[in-house]
Amino acid sequence: MSAYIESVIENVKKRNQGEPEFIQTVEEVLRSLEPAMAQHPEYEDADILGRLVEPERQIFFRVAWVDDAGKVQVNRGFRVQFNSAIGPYKGGLRFQANVYSGIIKFLGFEQIFKNSLTGLPIGGGKGGSDFDPAGKSDGEIMRFCQAFMLELWHNIGVDTDVPAGDVGVGGREIGFLNGMYQKLARKYHTGVLTGKGETWGGSILRPEATGFGALYFVQHMLHLAGKKLEGAKIAISGFGNVAWGASKKATELGAKVIAISGPDGVVTIPNGMNEEMIDYMLELRASNRNIVAPFAEKFAGTTFTPGKKAWSVKCDIALPCAFQNELNGDDAAELLKNGTWCCAEVSNMGCTPEAIHAFQKAGILFAPGKAVNAGGVATSGLEMTQNCMHISWSGKEVDEKLHFIMASIHDACVKFGKQKDGHIDYVKGANIAGFMKVAQAMLEQGVL
Ligand code: GLU
Repeated sequence: MSAYIESVIENVKKRNQGEPEFIQTVEEVLRSLEPAMAQHPEYEDADILGRLVEPERQIFFRVAWVDDAGKVQVNRGFRVQFNSAIGPYKGGLRFQANVYSGIIKFLGFEQIFKNSLTGLPIGGGKGGSDFDPAGKSDGEIMRFCQAFMLELWHNIGVDTDVPAGDVGVGGREIGFLNGMYQKLARKYHTGVLTGKGETWGGSILRPEATGFGALYFVQHMLHLAGKKLEGAKIAISGFGNVAWGASKKATELGAKVIAISGPDGVVTIPNGMNEEMIDYMLELRASNRNIVAPFAEKFAGTTFTPGKKAWSVKCDIALPCAFQNELNGDDAAELLKNGTWCCAEVSNMGCTPEAIHAFQKAGILFAPGKAVNAGGVATSGLEMTQNCMHISWSGKEVDEKLHFIMASIHDACVKFGKQKDGHIDYVKGANIAGFMKVAQAMLEQGVL
């Protein structure tokens, strides 16, 4: 491994102690960039990597609000503006109890590459809070979102930084955030957040986009490998927006979603999901209870197993759709033993490095989150375009553009990830393809 890459990694370890997720993603990404760095010594001369791993700006703030019992609550808010070499910072907001700087930084770093892969002019950023939406009333969620925006609004803008949703932040939260933004800014800036409602500047396909895009990517990957989605058994973790979109498109394309999981356990669905079950996922999420067990109570023929993950169920394709590191080395071993032949991360960094190495060693199809889930932010980018053009595209138009973008991302991964033996290393392909554009932009714009 190049001494330069190793020295940048060492520096990141020193500077970001206590932030293992960030260190993990930097190590994984930087090491895979070696061939690109070897071909471009000018990137090392300009210390592109040393600059890339340091966020341009980080904003941490207090969010104080009053709960339904009249008690004052204090949370922490974050926005990491990581890289703006190719466009305004763009990336979601995550509201989850475990959020801290290390999670926001790893997500922001990933976002730089993902956003570059979409082919759209958007830089990388991420934000969120350790606010836990589970068990909160709509009123509490509204008051929290308003308090969060009270501080964030100074730092964002159509050409500066455009936040969106992520775990714990969906259409409802974006509504509250956008309402408060407009009140404070005294401007109707439709483009300052994405994931908006259909009647106030949102893209009609944004809720489905991450899951749909993921399945389009998987389709391309399978096609190239001579395999088929029709009839394939799919295990999915999570039951939020992303898992819902993935289940919907997978079912539409003829696959069978035979398991979904939550923090409480896994539901197995031997005959595969039907439309009613897919719709019910939205209700489960909106209930704010963060459990999947009620699914099995509602639908006969399905079974809930407490404490188990989706990866314990025999499947052809595994789609982690919930959080980082939710599929580990032991899970990978179990899946491989059960004959799984494809894993595509839909969540950001859904698999641990051990799991990825096990899949790669076994030679099964594997693709990383930043390529597979890029359809979400790509559709956000399309929403920004619609907003600044003051137009709205139909679902069909957006879906066609999403198809095109996912096919281009797949092509880019193949171009940069094809090994001498013909095998496609999608991890390397996605990292190098995303990196090249950003590195060149940084080089051309001088030392900043
Ligand atoms: N949070 C999503 C992601 O991880 C979407 C970001 C966006 O739409 O800006 O890419």
